[in-house]
Amino acid sequence: MGIRLNKAETITSKLKNIKRINTYRSVLQLVGLSIFMYFGMESTIYVILLTIPLALLVGPVYCGWMCPRGMFQDLAGLMGRKVLGKRYNKLIPKEVHNRLRYFRYIIMIFVLVTVVLYELQIVGESLESAIVDGLIAIMVISILLSFFVDRAACKYFCKDGAAASLINLVILKKIKRNSSLCDSCGICDRVCPMWINVSKKDVVEDKTCISCFKCVYECPRDALSIEED
Ligand code: SF4
Ligand code: SF4
Repeated sequence: MGIRLNKAETITSKLKNIKRINTYRSVLQLVGLSIFMYFGMESTIYVILLTIPLALLVGPVYCGWMCPRGMFQDLAGLMGRKVLGKRYNKLIPKEVHNRLRYFRYIIMIFVLVTVVLYELQIVGESLESAIVDGLIAIMVISILLSFFVDRAACKYFCKDGAAASLINLVILKKIKRNSSLCDSCGICDRVCPMWINVSKKDVVEDKTCISCFKCVYECPRDALSIEED
C-alpha cells in the first residue's frame, strides 16, 4: 500500500516539476498534427490505440496532450481569452452545457451505425460521404466555437473523444483532492477545459476528463494528486 502511494506521488510530483508544461503539450500536439497530415484521418485511430496503455493508467491522454484538433481549439481559446477577457466561456449556460455534453455520444453511435450499415451495403457511398462531409463541417465549426468556449469540440461534438472518454470508467489512477490542503480557491475549476467541478470532488471520476492534468498542475496548494483508486 505504502509503495503504491509513493509511485502515485512520483507521478504527481514529476508533473508539478515540469517547468514549461504548455510547451511540452504544444510539441506533442504538433507531433499529432504531423502524423495526421502525413498519414491522414485514419491515423487518429491508430495513435489513440497506441496510447491505450497509458490511457488505462491515467485516462485519455491523447485528447489532453496529442490531438491536433485539441491544438487548434487551444489556439482559438488563447485568442478568445485575449479578445473576450472575462466574457470568455460565457456563451453556453451551465444548464445547456449539462445537456449538450451528451451530444458527442449520439454522434459516436450514429457514426458506428452508419459504418456498420455501409459495410453491410445497406447505405450507399454517396450517403456515407455526405455524412463524412457533415462531420468535417461540424468539427470545423466547433473548433471555431472554441474562440468563445474552451474545447467546444471536445465537450460537445468529437466522436473520437466520446469513444476515448469511456476509458475513464476503468482507469487505474485517478485525480484525488486532499480536502485538508484545499482552500476552495476554485482555480482547478477555472482551468478545467471540460468544466468539471474538481474543487467539489474528493475523487475526479467524471468520464469527460481528458487527462490534461491542468487542475493538478495549477493547484497552488498541491491539494490534487494522481493516485491509485
Ligand atoms: S485549485 Fe487546489 S486549493 Fe484551489 S480549489 Fe482546487 S484543489 Fe482546492
Ligand atoms: S479534471 Fe483536470 S485533468 Fe480532467 S479535464 Fe479537467 S483539468 Fe484536465
